[in-house]
Amino acid sequence: MSEAKVRMLKMEPIKVRCKSCSKEIKSAAGKSVCCGCENMTTIKGDVISAVDLSKVIMLNTYTTKKDGGLSTEQIEWQEQRRKRKVRRLDFEVR
Ligand SMILES: [Zn+2]
Repeated sequence: MSEAKVRMLKMEPIKVRCKSCSKEIKSAAGKSVCCGCENMTTIKGDVISAVDLSKVIMLNTYTTKKDGGLSTEQIEWQEQRRKRKVRRLDFEVR
């Protein structure tokens, strides 16, 4: 069984709710967090994985877009990132 993954473009703690078990989980620095049910909703760093991502509700509204414009939040974040000179090797721009 392959897991679907979403990479977030946000440095805030990521919060998601697993619809399988109704549990809310929040990303934690340096470790992965799992809801614990059979859907295996897991946040590891800035990557959300689950057996079925359609059962995962993003409580932050920032998701990776394959094309199209950046959302306001992403632009804001990029500007903050530029100011702070934050370097993130796993940052993906498409
Ligand atoms: Zn769950």
